[in-house]
Amino acid sequence: MAGTPTPMMTQYLALKAEAGDCLLFYRMGDFFELFFDDAKRAAQVLDIALTSRGEHDGAPVPMCGVPVHAAEGYLARLIRAGCRVAIAEQVETPDEAKARARREGTPSSKALVARDIVRFVTAGTLTEEALLEPRRANVLAAVCTVRGAVGIASVDISTGRMELEECAEDALGAALARIAPSELVAPDDWPEAPEEASSRPRRAFASEAGEARLQAVHGVAALDAFGSFTRPMLAAAGGLIAYLDHVGRGTLPLLLPPVARPAESALAMDGATRASLEILAAQGGGRAGSLLSAVDRCVTGAGARLLADDLAAPLTDRSGIEDRLALVGWLHDDPLLRAELREALRAMPDIGRALGRIVAGRGSPRDLGQLRDGLVAARSVGSLLGERGELPALLGAVLPALGGHGELTDWLSRALVPAPPTERGQGGFIAEGYDAALDELRSVSGNARRAIAALEARYREQTGITALKIRHNGVLGYFIEVPAARADALMAADSGFTHRQTMAGAVRFNSLQLHEEASRIAEAGGHALAAEQAHFEELCAAAAEARTPIAATAATVARIDVAAALAERAAEGGWSRPTVDDSTALKITKGRHPVVESALIGTGERFVANDCHLTADNRLWLLGGPNMGGKSTFLRQNALIVLLAQAGSFVPAEEAHIGLVDRLFSRVGAADNLARGRSTFMVEMVETASILAQATTRSFVILDEVGRGTSTYDGLALAWAVAEAVHDNNRSRCLFATHYHELARLAEQCDALTLHHVRAQEWKGELVLLHEVADGPADRSYGLAVARLAGVPAAVIKRAKVILDRLEKGRAETGGLAAGLGDLPLFAAASEAEEAACDSLRERLQALDIDALAPREALELLYELKRDAAG
Ligand code: ATP
Repeated sequence: MAGTPTPMMTQYLALKAEAGDCLLFYRMGDFFELFFDDAKRAAQVLDIALTSRGEHDGAPVPMCGVPVHAAEGYLARLIRAGCRVAIAEQVETPDEAKARARREGTPSSKALVARDIVRFVTAGTLTEEALLEPRRANVLAAVCTVRGAVGIASVDISTGRMELEECAEDALGAALARIAPSELVAPDDWPEAPEEASSRPRRAFASEAGEARLQAVHGVAALDAFGSFTRPMLAAAGGLIAYLDHVGRGTLPLLLPPVARPAESALAMDGATRASLEILAAQGGGRAGSLLSAVDRCVTGAGARLLADDLAAPLTDRSGIEDRLALVGWLHDDPLLRAELREALRAMPDIGRALGRIVAGRGSPRDLGQLRDGLVAARSVGSLLGERGELPALLGAVLPALGGHGELTDWLSRALVPAPPTERGQGGFIAEGYDAALDELRSVSGNARRAIAALEARYREQTGITALKIRHNGVLGYFIEVPAARADALMAADSGFTHRQTMAGAVRFNSLQLHEEASRIAEAGGHALAAEQAHFEELCAAAAEARTPIAATAATVARIDVAAALAERAAEGGWSRPTVDDSTALKITKGRHPVVESALIGTGERFVANDCHLTADNRLWLLGGPNMGGKSTFLRQNALIVLLAQAGSFVPAEEAHIGLVDRLFSRVGAADNLARGRSTFMVEMVETASILAQATTRSFVILDEVGRGTSTYDGLALAWAVAEAVHDNNRSRCLFATHYHELARLAEQCDALTLHHVRAQEWKGELVLLHEVADGPADRSYGLAVARLAGVPAAVIKRAKVILDRLEKGRAETGGLAAGLGDLPLFAAASEAEEAACDSLRERLQALDIDALAPREALELLYELKRDAAG
């Protein structure tokens, strides 16, 4: 009936209004159902059938559903597709609903089970093992502005790590590129918020409220002990916690004490630089082909997550870097210890995430088991390292965090079975001997089970029916079953059996003794379950109580895993320990590109190592040479070596001396970014402008063919001016790869600029790329030779050659582009192809010996020339 929705529809619509733009999972029995547009969206993303149910406003209601037991997998897919989901559960049983209806005076047949949204599932607020990637942090960030400054609060709620920071408005993009949150929360009135951001009302982003919430969460009267936090930081924290309150419906996840991240504590890199250096993900978005994948030898998920953090935010303070390097060096020099350590770490469960689930109220007995095993293993790793006498400072400082927890692990060991299940509802995870009352209940049901088995034997004997069985199912409970043909004897009124059900081939009965034993099992089982649940709650509370020291243990394990993994990687690849200091040198001897080198393994080709020696008075290298010669590889490998060194890793070079870099810039000319709706060249120039505005004398800049995205003259002029500006104004260390030979003239006016090229040779008419960086300008470009290598048809190459000769001739006549920068009409005439055709005609005519031609040949030639001239 149009206009009067059913009670269920009314309930649904109210919940949906609360869910807002989240898909509503509406619990109906064993399914979560979705309706209307939610159903259409989910059916499309999940590729499941879209059906309909009833009518609303005169039209069928689209519907689809997923089984509750398989919901996690479907949720994962929806979240990955960018959806947010609200879960509406039944919060009373049908019996309770009927009782309520009776009290309220409505017919109990119409009783509708009450439902409520118990949780919102969003990309940034996941804790479930199945929904998270073990080797990747999952960060939720909140952003807001307070009087021109931006506050950012970020948390990985799967482990509780929380950071607060402040930056200028124009640095927000770079900060978010570093944090790479999977979900962003912003005030609802913030015009710059990205479309996909989650929002909260502006009033939630109040610094006083943020401060008060943090104090309450951590039970302190002041936050000073954790660090000093600015107003924008606290405002962002307020918004973040308000959002967590909202999605958790009042249950807060694990939040560790916030850490204030000082400005400029990390090597600054903007989003474009990160993407171009392919630090955590390759250009295609995947992990394969990234720096991280070429370096990551971690054996624990937590280690892999920390390594990603380290690479995303390399340090800028020398002592921090030296500390890390000393630990890596120590493990590098002791392969036996390293192997033993990695073996021990490999077996360790992810205690940080287990703790996260427990505190969020989504823990399982298995999570408690993981905590027990992980903490015990951490202690033995601690003793293994502790035996070593003198330890590197960083290790000495964190080692104590591996110990402790004795009371908790003893307790968990006594309380839990060796391999607790992931389901808490079925019980069976509390160990025998832990609770005498529970053991008693279990023995009651054990005895009753044995009594039932004895009953079965007795009944068989008594009735003479050998096929008689006592069985159990969810509907009837325990019952006696005999084949239909033998049922008569039990049907007799005085047989002591009562009839319950007649099936096709069998008849089922009950008996007084069976009923008694079954009740004992049910009662004892119920009590045992309740006892186990109570123990579970108590153990979870104890673990939650120790959250801070447990998180410290987890962080220490991760730090040790990262160091051991970097040592392993260094040993595997023959990497060396870099020297870092406060100079502005960048002296890399026989450096290699870790990703390109790995990719060459097995191809039969060897990576050619190259030097890069920059100093204050030779700080800009202009690099020429053929396409595919290795220019981009060389530029990036030096940037990656700087990044690795400042992250505290050994580097793929024979020797590296790195004067600490404050900002790293990497730009590739003509990088396409059509997805963002900006033209290629526009993007290139926006990015270049940001370098010129931000690079300092301590920065390292790599510019790869800047200026390529526009016409030759404009591009050359821009490349020239940019190189000049970096040299004269920014005075940064810089590698500048270009195809414009004309830029070589810059060396005449820029005293700290030198010319270099990647070598190539023509051998028997074939181009050989040597991938060697040598001093001096490139002698010529090999574009056509590379095109031939690439399989461009010979006719096209031949034609290009004609045009090239012509162009070069023109250039020589006007004294070169760099000399005049303007008056060469290279591309002015649209008839350039025609001109080239005329030239060839002219050449052929001049080469003719007319006297030697027979009249007929002359006629043939005329025809031929006319045909060629027609094109
Ligand atoms: P383009 O000008 O076309 O962009 P390029 O000079 O920048 O080319 P790269 O992209 O750096 O060239 O390198 C091309 C390929 O050459 C790489 O993919 C790699 O396979 C190989 N290569 C580059 N450098 C080396 C090296 N040092 N040793 C061995 N192979 C290399």
